[in-house]
Amino acid sequence: MPNFEPMSIQSFNGRYEVRFRRKVSETANDIPSDRPIHIVADKRVVVLHGAALADLLRRAKRVHEVEALEDNKSLEVAPSLVRRLAEGGIRRDHLLLAVGGGIIQDMTCFVASILFRGMDWAFLPTTLLAQADSCIGSKSSINAAGTKNLVGNFYPPKLISLATEFLTTLDERDVRSGVGEMLKVHAIDGPASFDRIAAAYETLFKEPDKMLGFIRDSLLMKQKLIEVDEFDRGPRNVMNYGHSFGHAIEAATDFAVPHGIAVTMGMDMANHVAMRMGRCPAAEFARMHPKLHKNYAGFESTAVPIDVLLGALGRDKKNVGNDLTLILPNKEARIEKVRVGPDQAFRAHCAEFLDNVRLAG
Ligand code: NAD
Repeated sequence: MPNFEPMSIQSFNGRYEVRFRRKVSETANDIPSDRPIHIVADKRVVVLHGAALADLLRRAKRVHEVEALEDNKSLEVAPSLVRRLAEGGIRRDHLLLAVGGGIIQDMTCFVASILFRGMDWAFLPTTLLAQADSCIGSKSSINAAGTKNLVGNFYPPKLISLATEFLTTLDERDVRSGVGEMLKVHAIDGPASFDRIAAAYETLFKEPDKMLGFIRDSLLMKQKLIEVDEFDRGPRNVMNYGHSFGHAIEAATDFAVPHGIAVTMGMDMANHVAMRMGRCPAAEFARMHPKLHKNYAGFESTAVPIDVLLGALGRDKKNVGNDLTLILPNKEARIEKVRVGPDQAFRAHCAEFLDNVRLAG
């Protein structure tokens, strides 16, 4: 029987708890009624889960429904949310509550951090990516000046409560996107952890309690990194495994590939490049490839022009000088940060991976 005990996370701003629930109504009951609540909710979630959330929505002083669009989590749109909250009579001692996925989380976190120089916020994550990954770690990522996630800060919530029932209405691509981040943190935890989730891959989609157990495990693995390096200056950097390539794939495909699926392809690409550079054994690429490939299946044929990909890799904010900063597996199948010069050989390894993937698709 999996362990569904709450987790307690230490942050620079005090401890916060994550609760693991099955029913949407249970997450709603977790929100204390000792002070006025202002809700920022994903419009689609209100339509799909409004009945289970009805008491909570009724309890709120105001409910601000927002469409989960990248354009809405921007520095340019944030002032309109601040204005709506101010018009709704928000005060420093009230609670701001986010109900939605990563987009709603980022907007609410950012606005909570600047209103009254910081007010309490809580979170009911409704996507798998938000439940298994982004809900902890304190980051807000806000688009600005046409650049994704250019602006942000660290501002953890006071409480997170998640329920697998939310996941029943997610599109399959969004479930796989969340699974991609779960595969990633399990790979970082070590080969045994990756093999364990890879072996359970099919059941994740069919057995909610199995999923809940792996969500909790994913957060426990991330907790180990964020509690020692909340501000992402060292050990936490490995959480970017698959991300440099993944972000470049997202950019090169005009965001046709969902984030966690691009990250899955990015991990496979990182392993391939590391193998070709002689940094990790071929067996390491082969061990992970089948499950990674399965998670991005259907997206292989999305054209990823090599020059656009390399251009996007070159603009990654983690780079130093002309070198790329990449997170790659080493000889012991451990994930580590390395600097790589983007020479002709590197370009050829990337191009070979993209060709192989397209042929397999
Ligand atoms: P999302 O918030 O973009 O939502 C994806 C889609 O699912 C939307 O159409 C939304 O309306 C819908 N949806 C949400 N919950 C649903 C439900 N229960 N049933 C049916 N549909 C539902 O998705 P996401 O993948 O959670 O978030 C992606 C965003 O998160 C990106 O902007 C990314 O930059 C950000 N992010 C932030 C962090 C962080 O640490 N701050 C980490 C990773 C990603």
